[in-house]
Amino acid sequence: MDIRGSVPGVRTGKISELSPLDSGKHSHLLVALARGAEALSSSKGWPDGVSELIADLGQTTGVSRVWLFQVLELTDKHMLMNFPFEWVDESTHALKKMGRYDTKHWNFETCSVTYRTLVASRRRKEWQTAIIHELDESDFKDYQMDQGVQSTLSVPVYVQGEWWGLLGLDDSTRPYQWKDEEISLVRMAAHLISSAVILDRLNSANRQFEILSNLTESNAWELDINSGYCWCDARIISGVSGLSDNVHLSILQVLRRIHPEDRGGLFYYLRNQLKRGELTFRQDMRILRDNEFVWSEVIAKISVDAIGRLQKMAGIAIDIPERKEKEEQLFREANLDTLTGVANRGAFDNHLKQMIRMFAEDGILFSLLLMDVDHFKAVNDTWGHGIGDMALKHVSQILQKTMRDGDFVARIGGEEFAMLVRCVEPETAEMIGERIRHNIEASPLITPEETVPLTVSIGIFNVSNESTLSDCESMLSKADVALYQAKSTGRNKVVTC
Ligand code: GH3
Ligand code: MG
Ligand code: MG
Repeated sequence: MDIRGSVPGVRTGKISELSPLDSGKHSHLLVALARGAEALSSSKGWPDGVSELIADLGQTTGVSRVWLFQVLELTDKHMLMNFPFEWVDESTHALKKMGRYDTKHWNFETCSVTYRTLVASRRRKEWQTAIIHELDESDFKDYQMDQGVQSTLSVPVYVQGEWWGLLGLDDSTRPYQWKDEEISLVRMAAHLISSAVILDRLNSANRQFEILSNLTESNAWELDINSGYCWCDARIISGVSGLSDNVHLSILQVLRRIHPEDRGGLFYYLRNQLKRGELTFRQDMRILRDNEFVWSEVIAKISVDAIGRLQKMAGIAIDIPERKEKEEQLFREANLDTLTGVANRGAFDNHLKQMIRMFAEDGILFSLLLMDVDHFKAVNDTWGHGIGDMALKHVSQILQKTMRDGDFVARIGGEEFAMLVRCVEPETAEMIGERIRHNIEASPLITPEETVPLTVSIGIFNVSNESTLSDCESMLSKADVALYQAKSTGRNKVVTC
């Protein structure tokens, strides 16, 4: 089916090929405006579309020169203008080409009242026309005469409420009296230029953002507590191209996209920032992209209401998988026990300090379980140091299997381990200790040659609401007393102090 032709009875055509309805000047002007609007709304915006519009205005009105000045700086004392566009007919000199007025400076303290009055009227969004030889003597008249201008029309260009510049049409051959309809149409041209400027600003902002975003591999987002929605760059949640630029997610959907292990810390951090009146946010977290969690550094500005409640957060998310991998390797080297892979003494001390702080600030209770392998010297002596090492690894594995996510297991000495368990009743801590004790007793280390029976003793200290302990050492020594009691009353036991 050929659809390239035309439908009988339906007249079609391109805007650029339309001819004016009659020979009147405004009909020509209207066609020029329609063409200009088309050029500006198509890919040709700033500067090509504006350049075409200005040339069209010149040709259709028959003036000698069309010019566009841009206000670069405007104070009570002076004005600096830039001269980005000019069109001239064949018999007129192009001022811009001659290098004159690339920028022009007016000092309001030295220029005439006439000139200042004209500027004030433009700031009030007024158009101006003049037959130059009819004007009283002034620097403005001199300036126009100097250019050979006989009549002039100018309309101000306003962009988002601000005076942006001036569109002018000079006639060097006729003292032309502009009609109201024509002035209206030239004003339309000024509006078209204004939308081209806005579009250009938007495009520049987009380009800048695109460059920044590509350089830093970062994507923007904004979360509004009141609307309950988060706006974000689609690339945060999908690497698949073809998704629209931005997506809207509910706060619940956002939370679901954050790795469960990172959520708790996030709330804790945010609450503390708000409490301290710190309005910045900087956290590493794993965010679900397609079907995989990607490490991101999330940086944001926090907005609060008059009483400090969270209103909005806006910022960027930067992909940091490589950095995170390096950090994790360094973290492993610094915090994990090389033999068993569980946390080492240093990491344990840090974790215990953090739990003590959370207890002091928020009353979050926890239990410390201190465990020592029974007669371990005999294990080494009987089966050798190698089997001793295997036994320690074996015990660590049982501990990790027995403890739940969020519990903390560390090897804090030769055959001594410590566990931290959050928010438990004293009986529960004892139950956990008993489960560990039982699991180890029930699972001897089995090698191709040997079966090595293992037992452990455990001392428990429960942080209660009455606890006044504030440092790691005193807390450990409390648990140690319980452990000593377990040892001295027969071993393979759990004792709570
Ligand atoms: P108790 O029931 O009273 O705890 O007796 P024990 O023999 O376990 O206690 P003791 O402190 O006398 O012995 C601990 C032993 O643990 C001594 C040490 O050689 C051994 N040990 C410490 N670190 C390691 C290690 O990394 N590998 C091996 N194989 N043995 C270790
Ligand atoms: Mg020991
Ligand atoms: Mg021991």
